[in-house]
Amino acid sequence: MSKAPNAELPKSVDPSRLAEHNTTLEGVIPLEGLARFREAVPGFQDGSECRVKLSFYQDSERRRIVSGELSAPVILECQRCMNDMQVTLTSSFDLGLVINDDQAQRLPKTLEPFLFEDFTADLWSMVEDELLLVLPPFPLHERDECPAKEDLEALEPSKAPSEPEAKKREDNPFSVLADFKTTKH
Ligand SMILES: [Zn+2]
Repeated sequence: MSKAPNAELPKSVDPSRLAEHNTTLEGVIPLEGLARFREAVPGFQDGSECRVKLSFYQDSERRRIVSGELSAPVILECQRCMNDMQVTLTSSFDLGLVINDDQAQRLPKTLEPFLFEDFTADLWSMVEDELLLVLPPFPLHERDECPAKEDLEALEPSKAPSEPEAKKREDNPFSVLADFKTTKH
């Protein structure tokens, strides 16, 4: 993604006009300003922002399309250890801008419809929908970074080295070295 300006993304735009002019908008949305998202996440650092880039254009069939990319830093709760974890949510998406159900039905399957009315689209709401879609339902630390890793391994005997293998290593003090050699390459 190219360098995004720090200006706030406009809230309401006329998406038809933007699509006719092949306009790209880049900017940020304060997460504080997205009420539904704020309620859906455990938290985020004060002043956190979602970075957004939206490209409006028309395809060969004169459908109005917006292709977007976003990233937002949030704090989720690891469902294994229940501690906070810092996560950057990212998404890229293609939406067909439609003014009624009929247009929505005719979109190709690759495009999700985004309904707008009276020449205005609420971009913040559009971005908020996309953020909610990429919110992981069951966030987990990377296994090696999770403080609950050891508890977890205790519950998964199958992942521990099997008895005969452990014994073999005891018998041969060089087997560890051998493993090291074979995995190093
Ligand atoms: Zn964890």
